[in-house]
Amino acid sequence: MTFDDLGLHADLLRAVKDAGYREPTPIQRDAIPPALAGRDVLGCAQTGTGKTAAFGLPLLQRLDAIADEETAIRALVLTPTRELAAQIGESFATYGTHLELWHTVIFGGVKEGKQIAELDRGIDVLVATPGRLLDLMGRGYVDLRKVSLFVLDEADRMLDMGFLPDVRRVIAKLPKKRQTLFFSATMPGPIRKLANELLHDPVSVAVAPVSSAAEKVRQEVVFVEKKAKPRKLIELLSAGDIAHTIVFTRTKHGANRLVKKLANAGIEAAAIHGNKSQGARTRALDGFRSGALNVLVATDIAARGIDVEGISHVINFALPNVPEPYVHRIGRTARAGASGTAVSFCDPEEKAYLKSIEKLLGRRIHRRAA
Ligand code: AMP
Repeated sequence: MTFDDLGLHADLLRAVKDAGYREPTPIQRDAIPPALAGRDVLGCAQTGTGKTAAFGLPLLQRLDAIADEETAIRALVLTPTRELAAQIGESFATYGTHLELWHTVIFGGVKEGKQIAELDRGIDVLVATPGRLLDLMGRGYVDLRKVSLFVLDEADRMLDMGFLPDVRRVIAKLPKKRQTLFFSATMPGPIRKLANELLHDPVSVAVAPVSSAAEKVRQEVVFVEKKAKPRKLIELLSAGDIAHTIVFTRTKHGANRLVKKLANAGIEAAAIHGNKSQGARTRALDGFRSGALNVLVATDIAARGIDVEGISHVINFALPNVPEPYVHRIGRTARAGASGTAVSFCDPEEKAYLKSIEKLLGRRIHRRAA
């Protein structure tokens, strides 16, 4: 099955091919044709499966087909976090590059002026998180009366984050006659109920979760205050049983700071991240491979593609704010049948992240005494 078989028109096919996609992922293969035909879709899939294109491509094609002289928001994508909203916005820019459709992204935590200006200019597609959307709706900046296509993304995460009441308030303002594409990684009771309420004769599509790779890894979580994390890390690394360790931080600066703190405690470590020169990265990796260096501090992006044998421990100094990188991180240990341990530090603000990781894994992570 190729993209050409899905019923997408030439402008979208060209964009998808330029993005380097060679064949559709399973969720795309199963969801795109019914969505293009105007059916409601219930998609059981998580980030990393290609679900953004699974709803994004049909959405753009259908809007493009209905020419409208006056600009109005005709499609709404609701997603729980600003990171996801931003990613969806970028994907839409990629997929829609040859179309005359305008989209914008609105989320909380940043100044709203630019978002309001874009709304005022007129857009066809709005990607939003629920809180900021309700705020701007309440003040008259957003009118959803012309929405004919609604995407609810990561519905289960909306539930976990306590956004379901907000989501329902948004939905109450949507026209009843519309197409709905509903995506969720898991289907707990309240989500199934919401899906039943929203979807008319939906096509159900599901893809398997990615979690199994990490099953051999012993996983532990330590609850620790943010401030106490460096001390805790030094304690663990000094304990002796931790040999070849990758420590994951969220940011490049965080990685640099941590390497300094470790050095002050007499633990030699090197950081690898996007701001490091290729030479510095290669030196760090060679040192790690040869055993001269026992600790590597990395960001997710830098760690992608690194293949080092014999990693005994992965330490999540910070938990990723979406669950899939967790699985990729811990999959770096316990390669090729070896056993490994992953220890995650979780501060009070990260508890929601832990919850979504455990949901993805389908089990509780062992609590280690702090
Ligand atoms: P998503 O699950 O939508 O977040 O997509 C995960 C990643 O897969 C993104 O980086 C996409 O650009 C990429 N992707 C989506 N569909 C395909 C495809 N058919 N072929 C290759 N990469 C893809």
